[in-house]
Amino acid sequence: MINVCDIQVMKPLLAEHGFHFSKAKGQNFLIASWVPEQIALDSGVDENTGVLEIGPGIGPLTQQLCLRAGRVCAVELDTRLKPILAQTVGEFENLEILWDDVLKQDIPALVKEKFAGLRPAACANLPYYITSPILSALLEAECFDQVTVMVQKEVAQRIAARPGTADYSAFTVFCQYYAEPECLFDVPAHCFLPQPKVTSAVITLRVRKDRPWNVENQDIFFRTVRASFAMRRKKLSNGLASGFPQLGKEGAAEVIAACGFDENIRGETLGIPEFAKLSNGIARRLK
Ligand code: SAM
Repeated sequence: MINVCDIQVMKPLLAEHGFHFSKAKGQNFLIASWVPEQIALDSGVDENTGVLEIGPGIGPLTQQLCLRAGRVCAVELDTRLKPILAQTVGEFENLEILWDDVLKQDIPALVKEKFAGLRPAACANLPYYITSPILSALLEAECFDQVTVMVQKEVAQRIAARPGTADYSAFTVFCQYYAEPECLFDVPAHCFLPQPKVTSAVITLRVRKDRPWNVENQDIFFRTVRASFAMRRKKLSNGLASGFPQLGKEGAAEVIAACGFDENIRGETLGIPEFAKLSNGIARRLK
């Protein structure tokens, strides 16, 4: 197996194919082989797993996943990588590469088609310019057991944040609604070529089998969450009134009181059970 993380191997390989990194496609390739190895180990992938990889690049993580998984399906946007991947991962019979934009995929249909009889998981060193849309699509697909990704460290901190902290956001609530996140390890910038300006981190999200909050209307739940964070410095009732104009300020204050919350409460201190209670109150009022 070619060690694609070895810079003495990678540089001539890229030069042979006239490949230049595309900043627009978020291309920062791993040059420290312990990283893809550790990601694959921590992703819990085994021969009973079907893994969707996003952005294989020249294949360092793909190799590690193919060594462990039952099947790997990798989606890569940049077709210039075709001849390189043929050399670096062409030997793996359990691998299929789809040359397309991951955001254009019907992920549940893809998982059903490619991973029948296997435990579906997703694993990737994500292109950072589309971290949120990809993670949202993976979680909303509701078909993976576990999603393990490398992201910017600050994004990992946001995903795993607790209520009342500066990192806590609507995206935190979104991710934690679907999954339980665990930050695994940091990856310094010198582990990539070209070096990004930020530190990266690997995070795993174990998708919840059930959600114990009795959310009556998921759409209204997420609208409530977004509205609650939209005006961080103002009272919750202001945010809710602007997110739900039909409610008005008075209606918003009434729902907050009916939930038993203090009128001066701030959205960023609420956990998922409190958002569920609040959104159920709003849903009933809007009926
Ligand atoms: N996995 C490789 C590694 O760890 O060295 C490359 C990771 S690089 C950060 C991100 C990869 O995602 C690149 O190969 C890039 O071409 C690919 N990519 C960017 N946008 C994409 C998209 N919309 N759909 C699929 N792949 C994409």
